Amino acid sequence: MSAPVIELVDVTKSFPGPPVVTALHAATIRIESSAYVSIVGPSGSGKSTLLNLLGLLDRPTTGSYLFDGVPTTDLTENGRAALRARSIGFVFQSFHLLPERTVLENVLLSTLYSGVPRESRLERALTAIEQVGLSHRSTFTPATLSGGERQRVAVARAIITSPKVLLADEPTGNLDQQTSRQVMELFEQLNDDGMAVVVITHDAAVARRATRVVHIVDGRVEEQ
Ligand code: ADP
Ligand code: MG
Repeated sequence: MSAPVIELVDVTKSFPGPPVVTALHAATIRIESSAYVSIVGPSGSGKSTLLNLLGLLDRPTTGSYLFDGVPTTDLTENGRAALRARSIGFVFQSFHLLPERTVLENVLLSTLYSGVPRESRLERALTAIEQVGLSHRSTFTPATLSGGERQRVAVARAIITSPKVLLADEPTGNLDQQTSRQVMELFEQLNDDGMAVVVITHDAAVARRATRVVHIVDGRVEEQ
């Protein structure tokens, strides 16, 4: 078993309201650095709340979160941002690509604040585009690509820093079955290459592709 990259212990997240909403109840999740985990649950069950916590985009109300052994609740905002930029890649349902820019430019631009050294940015961008199988599309703009290809550009942008963890929130929500399968295959390949992958989804077929499935219902996490 490899070391945990994510250790969430008794984490609760409440939003102040009024009314107060407790979106996550005392969640404990341990994810190893070689894992491919899906987190599945219905709409409103707390999936995005959990992803925001795992991705250091939000802080727990109570409980502790160690990322790669670092107690993140003690970090400053800058410390969290630096850890996030270095170690976590994000993929969302919407691709968030710049329409006027090429595939290569979209991927390159993401490295501006990522800490990737300037001289290696181009090389890294080309490698990431190759990893998602889009080298032949690097000079294309997003409008000329299929939905699945656009999401693969978003994945290239997310992995350019070689993050420890790829966090995906409903990554196939805008895709048809066939293209969503391509994106899932890409996640499997990245996981085979050593990246921890966490996919949040309400789609049971997508969830089943992972080697481990965590369920979340009404803000309560349970494994099956
Ligand atoms: P999911 O992603 O599974 O659809 P969310 O994590 O977005 O669910 O939301 C879980 C619950 O927390 C919902 O009841 C939602 O309304 C509530 N919630 C999410 N974000 C906020 C917020 N910023 N303020 C108040 N309530 C929120
Ligand atoms: Mg959500």
